[in-house]
Amino acid sequence: MGTCINHPERETPYRCMKHQIYLCEACLECKDPKLYCKHRSACPVWFMGKQKEGGNAEDQHESAAAARTAVLLPAGRMVSVPGG
Ligand code: SF4
Repeated sequence: MGTCINHPERETPYRCMKHQIYLCEACLECKDPKLYCKHRSACPVWFMGKQKEGGNAEDQHESAAAARTAVLLPAGRMVSVPGG
């Protein structure tokens, strides 16, 4: 837990591990969305920010395009998984 960089009166568990800053729910947004970040796959700020956005039509199209079929072994059961 820490205090939001923009709202010091707010306690928050959301932390950008790259920049070592805390962001409250109102401020959840990745500061470097276009740059590679080694923390992204486990970053709550990234996922909560995307969830908050709700995704526009272009994002939804990209997600649909990125959907994959996975085969679960040893049964060979096939499932569709969303992009990301
Ligand atoms: S994905 Fe964005 S918010 Fe998350 S650690 Fe990286 S730079 Fe910070």
